[in-house]
Amino acid sequence: MRMSLSHRAKAIKPSPTLAVSALANEMKAKGVEVINFGAGEPDFNTPDYIKEAAKKAIDDNFTHYTKSAGIQELREVIAQKLLKDNGLNFKPEDILVSPGAKASLMHVLMSVCDPRDEIIIPSPYWVSYTSLVELYDAFPVLLPATPQDGFKINAKQLLETANSLSNPKALILNSPNNPTGTVYTKKELAEISEVCLQKDIIIISDEIYERLIYDNKEHISIATISDDVKENTIIVNGVSKAYAMTGWRLGYAAGPTDIIKSASRIQSHTTSCVNSITQKATVVALSVDDGSVEKMRQKFEKRRNYLVGALNEINNVRCTMPSGAFYAMPNISYFIQNSAKN
Ligand code: PMP
Repeated sequence: MRMSLSHRAKAIKPSPTLAVSALANEMKAKGVEVINFGAGEPDFNTPDYIKEAAKKAIDDNFTHYTKSAGIQELREVIAQKLLKDNGLNFKPEDILVSPGAKASLMHVLMSVCDPRDEIIIPSPYWVSYTSLVELYDAFPVLLPATPQDGFKINAKQLLETANSLSNPKALILNSPNNPTGTVYTKKELAEISEVCLQKDIIIISDEIYERLIYDNKEHISIATISDDVKENTIIVNGVSKAYAMTGWRLGYAAGPTDIIKSASRIQSHTTSCVNSITQKATVVALSVDDGSVEKMRQKFEKRRNYLVGALNEINNVRCTMPSGAFYAMPNISYFIQNSAKN
């Protein structure tokens, strides 16, 4: 007997960035010299002060299930972080701690998407957005963000797109952006959020690269534009990138009570809670600053300057200077039209 797969299982493709990494590792194991530009992860080790907190959590036998939405101590620390870094007031109850920002996004999207809802995603985009949206039978609608426009969408374009759709439900905005490194200004965010309020479009703001920002630019959370915008926004963030903690698996969502409650309910049936040890380590990661995050940021900035400079020295390659994250998005169309196919 052949088992028949669900329509979701048939439609979903493996994460292309993780597939590239797996292929690179396979080639390395065979002795091929490979520089892996696959999955986006810092090559630094997790700072020692965070590892010490995890060791202590084990020794203290903090090894059991926790409350699904996260331990109170951590939700309080995240609320303090949002106030201190972003000027945003959230109650700990309006924060969901998940096994990675990806899981936060998944539970938020499950709470928001109905079949055939249209979810607007500026393109280029992080590969999981479209797959997650499709998993919930909603439609991703890609909005081109071209190098000529600094890889940014604008309010006019968003309004035109929203007017052309039948069920525009949410916008997934990612600043600083993977893969272009673009960072939106306050003015741009204000204009975009105005359209979202006008058209009743929920904003899902993925701010996971907020600490990796260069040239003295500033990260602005779109939720700070006004109280109305905050009420219409769900922030997604996490510790993977800034703290070099990709394998620990901790992300979080902060937003209106109803959405966070719903996402928490869903999470209680899917992933339960984040690893208890990781939660304790993250309390320390977010409340102590030993300067290691800034040291990593400075190294990323140096590498960016070198890499983008070197790319632009290659004939027929053009690369926009990214203002944040740790990616470069060179234009190699002179050589290859579809890099995914090569
Ligand atoms: N958002 C963006 C834009 C990302 O690049 C990533 C990781 N590649 C994530 C979310 C997910 O991060 P994590 O699940 O490790 O917290």
